[in-house]
Parts: sequence; C-alpha cells; structure tokens
Amino acid sequence: MDLTRENIPSTLLPTPKFFAVKSGRFQPGRAIGVFLDPSLRLSEDVVRAELEKLGFEEVEMKSEPPAQLAVLGKGAMPSSHEQELSGCRFPEQAYSLCVSPDGVTICALDTKGALHGFATFLQWAERADEDGVAAVDIVDFPDIERRIISPTLTWYAGFARAGFGTQLWYGEDWQRFIDWCFRHKITALNIVMYGFWPFEFPEYPETVMRDIKVKTWAPEINDWVEVSFTHPNLNKPFLEDMIRYANARGIDIYAYIGMNSYSGGYPVVHPESRSVLSPELKASGHVNNYDSMCTSREEVRKYLIASVKRIEELGFNGLVFEESEEVQWFCQCEECQRKYGYLPPNDAKHSVTVEMLGEYLKVLKPETVVGVRWLREPPIVKDRDYLQMWKERLPERVVLFWAPGLEDDDREFLKWIDIFGRERIWSRNCEGSGFAASLGRIPYLIPDTFPENLKNYAFQHLWNDILQFQGAVNTNCTAINGYGFEWYGHELYFLATAQYGWDCWHFDNYEFLAHAARHLHGETNGALYEEAILNVPCIHETQICPTLPSFPFMPNKYVGEEETRYLEHCLMAAERVLNLLKLIGQSSAMSRIQKENWEATLLMTRRMREVILAGLYYNRYLMEKASPSPDAARLREFALAALRHAEEDYRLIKEHYFDSREHHWTGVAIGEYYIPIVINEYKREFADVLGPEYAPDESIPRMVGGESLPWEWLLEWGPRIAAAKALAAQRPGVAR
Ligand SMILES: [Zn+2]
Repeated sequence: MDLTRENIPSTLLPTPKFFAVKSGRFQPGRAIGVFLDPSLRLSEDVVRAELEKLGFEEVEMKSEPPAQLAVLGKGAMPSSHEQELSGCRFPEQAYSLCVSPDGVTICALDTKGALHGFATFLQWAERADEDGVAAVDIVDFPDIERRIISPTLTWYAGFARAGFGTQLWYGEDWQRFIDWCFRHKITALNIVMYGFWPFEFPEYPETVMRDIKVKTWAPEINDWVEVSFTHPNLNKPFLEDMIRYANARGIDIYAYIGMNSYSGGYPVVHPESRSVLSPELKASGHVNNYDSMCTSREEVRKYLIASVKRIEELGFNGLVFEESEEVQWFCQCEECQRKYGYLPPNDAKHSVTVEMLGEYLKVLKPETVVGVRWLREPPIVKDRDYLQMWKERLPERVVLFWAPGLEDDDREFLKWIDIFGRERIWSRNCEGSGFAASLGRIPYLIPDTFPENLKNYAFQHLWNDILQFQGAVNTNCTAINGYGFEWYGHELYFLATAQYGWDCWHFDNYEFLAHAARHLHGETNGALYEEAILNVPCIHETQICPTLPSFPFMPNKYVGEEETRYLEHCLMAAERVLNLLKLIGQSSAMSRIQKENWEATLLMTRRMREVILAGLYYNRYLMEKASPSPDAARLREFALAALRHAEEDYRLIKEHYFDSREHHWTGVAIGEYYIPIVINEYKREFADVLGPEYAPDESIPRMVGGESLPWEWLLEWGPRIAAAKALAAQRPGVAR
C-alpha cells in the first residue's frame, strides 16, 4: 500500500507533518551501532535504554558516522535539510527522520528536535515485523511550543481522599508513564500535589502523607477494615529520580499546588490556621473552611514559603499555584478584615495571590517556571478594566496556567489573550479528564447522542478539550495543558493533547477517535474500542435520585416518563458496549497498557449498567405508586430491584477502589461516591410506603463531593458553556 499523509498508520500519534513510506525495509538484527552528534546534548544513556526497550540486545556507541542509527546536528546534516528545518515552525523542535534499507538518519537543529525524531523512530519501529522496519521519510515539527499534561501525585489527599489511580503509583509506574509521554512528544508534566505532601518535609513532618487512617472494603469479611496509608514516595522514594529521568527525555516537571489551600496537611493538623468563618456565614450554611489557610497569620506564611522552597529543592522545574476555589466568602479574622475587608471576597483572594506570588518569587530560582490558576470565579465574563487591573498587579514573570474555555463563545478567551498576551497563556480550562475524578472516576468522553432535552449538558469532555486546544494553537498561545487525573481508561485525553498540540488540523473529532482507538488497541480491537466509546453512557449517581441536590456538572434528573425511556435507551447502549468489551477481552495478547485501559472501560460500563438499572426500577416503582390502584407486590418487587442494582454499583466501587468511603479528617464528611446516599434516599421513600424494613441507615452522612461544593454557579452557566461556539478555533477560509 502506498502510504502518504492521508493514511498515516495508527502507530504514529501525533501524526507527522510530511510522511511518505518508501520501498524496502531496514533490517538491523539484534545489535545496532549508533552515532550521536556531539553538538546535540542527547544522553547516550537515554538512547541506549530506549533502544534496549525496543528489543536491541546490543547497542554500540560510535564516535563517528557511519552508523546504523545516526543523529546529525547543524553542520553535519546536508545543507538542504538544515535549510528546510530552519524554515519550520519551532525549528528547535523540528526534525527529519529517514529510515532506509541502509539505516536510520535523524537530523535536528537542537536537542529537542533530536529527541522528538528519536521518539518517532521508536513508535515507527514498534511496528516492525520479522522483515524489519519499513523505509520512511518524515519531516516534522509541532503546532504549539509546549504540550503539557497534568497528572496527580496526590489529589485532595487527606481531605477528601487518600488516593486513587496514579496517586498509588511507585517509581516504576511513573517511569512507564514518562516513557509514554516521551513517545508522544509531551514536553512537561504539571503534577498535582493537593493535600498532605507526598514527600519528606523535615521542618513540618506532620504535613506529609504518612500513616493516614483509611477505611477500606474487605470482601473477605464483607465489611470495612481500618488500615493506614503512606504515600508510595514516602515508602520508596522516587520523586527526585523521576524528575531527572523525565528531564533527560526533554520533559519538564512542574508542581501544581494550592496557593494557600490544600497545601500539605497543615490546615488539617492545625485547624487554627484555617480561614475564619464568621457565625453569620456558618449560619447561612457555609461549611468548607477546611482547605484554605489565613495568610495573615505569620506561621502560615512561614510554612507556605518553606513548602515552596522544599518543592524546588526536590528538583521540580516549576511551580504552578491555584487559588482556592471558594468564591463566596473570604477570611473573617480581624487582620484579614483590616487588610482586605473593604474588598469583595474574590478581590481579597486575588490580592493575597499577588502578595504571596511576590513572596514566593523572592525565594525561588530565576529559572524556575512560576504559573498561576486564578480569576476563575463568576462572573465568567469579566470587564476588560478589571482584568487589566489584575494583569498589572501580577508579577511579570508569572505565566497563566488557566485561561477561559469556550465561555461566551470563546470571546472571554480572546479577551484574555488581548490583555495578558498569548505568550503568557500556557493552559486553558481543559478539564475533561479532571472532571472524571469528581464524577466518581467515570470519564465523560463525548457528549451523548440522545434526545436534546435529555442530554447531559456536561461541557467538560473530550470534544470540548479538543476545541480549546485548537483555539490555543490557532491563536499562537505558548502551551496547551490537558488534565489527566488518572491514567487507566483516560488515555484518549492524553492522546488528544499529544495530537492537537502537534498536528492540530489533521483530524476532525471522529477521525481522531478512530486513529487514537487503533493507536491504543491495534487494528481489530481498536475498531471495537472506538465503537464502545461512541456508545458508552455516562450518568452520575445523583441523576437517578430526585431528592438529592443536583451535581453541578451534571444536573439533569432522570426521573419521569420520557426520562425512563432515556434510561432504557442507555441500558441498551451499555449492554452493547459490554458485548464489544467482551470481544476485546477474548483476544489473546494485550499489552499492559491495553489491559489497564480495557479493564477500566469494562468496570466503568458495568457500573453504568447498574446505575441505569437502579434508576429504571426506581422510575417503575414511582409509576406504579402513582397508578390508580398500586399493587403492593409490584411496588416491593421494583423497590428491591432498585436497591439491588444500586448496591451492586456500590459493590463494584468498593471492591475496585481501595479508597471509596467518605472521610471526616477535616471535620466535614467528604467523598466522591454518592451511591450510599442514593440508596438511603431510595430507602426513605420505600420505608414511607412499604414499611420499616426499608428504613435508611442514619449513620450514612448526607455529604457532597469535595469538588462540587464551590461549583454551584455552574447550574446556571453550564448550558451556556455547553452551547458555546469555538470562535478561537475558527480558521479563515477553512470550513469546520
Ligand atoms: Zn485571616
């Protein structure tokens, strides 16, 4: 087959800009000779290690060409090549890769380009068969300077959770993930560290994640047992090695931490350090003062500054600070009132941000990247003068790790570019995957295709992330940043960052899904996985319970006649996806990554099936109850079935996630799995009608997810954001 840019094999992601398969194959055998141009700071160790992973038993470094694999820099490559690469966008990242029967040549002007060329060779060579590697010519460069992913090392740890997914990884797992990022040309990881610190901190040992008490489900006894949890990096330290490992592959590592909220365990261990809620605020229902600290307290400032210094000392290449997500009130202590009391709460918060950034900059090295996520509160559409004022107060060195998403048809994003400058924008509101964490680890990948009036208006999903990436590329921002709050089952989000930051306009959404699914699972299983993703329903547990407050990200309730039909439709979709996944599961050889992804998708679909069935039976119960002559036996039958399926969802959660129960560390019950409350709400209804044997368990707290508390304003804004036009992603003369 004649392969050109129109049909790039799915092994390659991101897709290269110029691509042509030639005749012949490179057949290197088990040993390979390598020449690395000394002008490129390409680590011999990295090249050797990566080639060994590819299967070469012997890697011989040569001091001069020729070699089977030659990496050539300026002066050594043909001058026509040098000219061509110099003319590319981001020439320092550009490369050419030529695989021919005689060998492999990578040309690059800079180490960055050489690493990208090497990464492409690794992906391409993974496609080799017994006849060797197909000959190919590639010339390639990115569409945006930096492509960043934000995974989690701790996520509200010791506040809402102990840990899940990547937070439970040891060094080897992180190494595997960094290898993956290297092959996909990711340039930085912005690693979330929210909550108790996952590293040693001798000055403040009480703030690290050691011996945290957690109740975990033990199927052996069908009950909870209390265990103590210590972060893997405190058990078997890997963080410093991991940063060095990533840096050697051209990947920077930033620490993404709270400005003065969730900053280590300090606010939990020292409750007196927290922002003060006045009795009036408490009376009006505010509970969440557990996360942010009062920066007027001297010991708090001292602690925060020491934390920042400690993080830099660990080797991080940058720090990204996020403001507290509390938008309704500010610390009511006497000193804060004196200093900021005349300001609205959010302006008080931004003033503290500016002050603290100033303090942090005094102690950080000049080369350390400093970023901020701020000004995220309503009103979503802000006055130009207002933004201009904060721009002037923000230290010049600080870059923005948050800019608006599709709010107000992208006009707000374009306004930010205008005011803060495109070079300062390193990230937008691309939290498709982050959102999954607060959904109880169900990734909402693509908007569903069901009737408009019943559609979830969840706006943070894969398509929305992609539109935001395209908008940032189209307007020449510095970076895109995609969230990855966990790995298993979420690869499509990471792949979108990789593809749309590098070769932004190659695929539309569905073409991307097809390519990425095959990249992940190979030709046969990839097609099945693609179909599964197109059909898997996504329903939040609160949506099948009318008596619970709406989850701000997914507020529609599926209770009623039409809603029942919707659930029936979803049930068919879930069954269909389970069959597709069964077929994938029958294949004999899955790589570790494929198996993780498959298992996560299977678990997600099984949970969805149970949630849908619970909701369906609850609806049937309500319909029977409302009928002219309700039948007690039928009511009982429907009630029992609703409870059975809700319990089954909870069993799947408890048995698969070690940390699924609500926590009270802060004094407020917080968790991410709402199903025990749904079960209790169902029981409350059934007990009223069918008798006390359905009595709810009053020990179950009526809690909300740590993530959803400050986001209630989305109930108003969600539908508008979901319907927004991606103006920033529009290109003149190109139809979308
Ligand atoms: Zn205060």
